Amino acid sequence: MTPDAVQGLTILGSTGSIGVSTLDVVARHAERFRVHALTANRSLERLLAQCLQFEPELAVMADAAAAAELARRLKEAGSHTQVAHGMAGLEAAASWPGSDFVMAAIVGAAGLLPSLAAVRAGKRVLLANKEALVVAGSLFMEEVAAHGAEVLPIDSEHNAVFQCLPPGFDAGLAAVGVRRILLTASGGPFRTLSSAELARVTPEQACNHPNWEMGRKISVDSASMMNKGLEVIEAHWLFGAAPEQIQVVVHPQSVIHSLVEYTDGSVLAQLGNPDMRIPIAHALAWPRRIDSGVTSLDLFQVARLDFEAPDLGRFPCLRLAFEAIAAGGTAPVILNAANEVAVAAFLAGRLGFTAIAELVEETLQRFAVEPVEDLQQLLAIDRRARALAEQALQDRI
Ligand code: NAD
Ligand code: MG
Repeated sequence: MTPDAVQGLTILGSTGSIGVSTLDVVARHAERFRVHALTANRSLERLLAQCLQFEPELAVMADAAAAAELARRLKEAGSHTQVAHGMAGLEAAASWPGSDFVMAAIVGAAGLLPSLAAVRAGKRVLLANKEALVVAGSLFMEEVAAHGAEVLPIDSEHNAVFQCLPPGFDAGLAAVGVRRILLTASGGPFRTLSSAELARVTPEQACNHPNWEMGRKISVDSASMMNKGLEVIEAHWLFGAAPEQIQVVVHPQSVIHSLVEYTDGSVLAQLGNPDMRIPIAHALAWPRRIDSGVTSLDLFQVARLDFEAPDLGRFPCLRLAFEAIAAGGTAPVILNAANEVAVAAFLAGRLGFTAIAELVEETLQRFAVEPVEDLQQLLAIDRRARALAEQALQDRI
């Protein structure tokens, strides 16, 4: 890849929070990036507008009827964008020949197969979809190596760690003198609430994050701190860090995005305003730098940086994630599947906030953890865990 050539780009999940931020950065560098494929689940109007602005060769929607409607509207507007649907469409977008980069920004385990398709096509994968690594971390990283793909982390903490690590870290953290990774966490909108207050919070309150604007699922995960648990698993796979080498540090200002501690006691951190366009621009331009559109960090305005230990009693989702990593094997798949069911139920008003952790714990208790064998096994366990969590949900109502 020559650095000055125009880079082709696919965005999986272009209508979401990360997708929109990615297109914002891309639009600032029209001479540098060419959008080849965009995909969405249900947001037809937004995908239509993106297609008319960026003129990709391919647009994909989840279902056939929505795709047909999109195709009709595009044709009416004189667009030449082809339209596809379903998993075959997503895989075509992920492996599109003109795309050098694939932004993997679908939310949840639904992003696993499309992200893997990009890996198998040997793309540079800008990975926002952390659930892909939670569900299939070992297999995913094996496929990256087998197909000569590259993974650049978009999650702000992992992007920060990536920026603070020395070259060659993939040979092992000890070999490059790294002792620990410190993952920062904002603590979410409910950081200071008591357990009794947590039981009464609403989806609207959970989605109202103090520092970050994100999709609804990750906003709830941030509020329950399951997000940090998923991120510990993500860091384990991305950086080959043992769970005991990863420390979670609550840092309410969200200015330090994470830190790396070296064996000599040096600690390097990456700072910036909490805006996802920074890690997105970093990964799009890597190893160079481009403007992200984000304003300079004003340290006088920040004034102070606070740190505290996470409270696993009030935030049991984080404890459950630590336990799932320790158990290893298929435990993280079960954790993730039950969490997706519980979060959807909470957002739909069918489950209380503190019951999210209870439902995840009940589901984990009903499964025997097995060693990871292959993708089929993981997908089957994902389906079974969802069905069991749904059942446990019905039993509560
Ligand atoms: P979002 O809900 O705003 O957007 C999700 C995108 O995926 C949309 O384009 C949607 O159409 C598409 N999508 C959803 N379900 C799908 C399905 N079943 N099949 C195909 N497409 C589907 O989510 P987001 O906040 O942009 O997050 C995307 C991913 O990035 C998540 O894995 C999240 O954890 C991660 N992430 C997000 C942020 C953030 O600031 N938003 C930060 C770090 C990591
Ligand atoms: Mg994050």
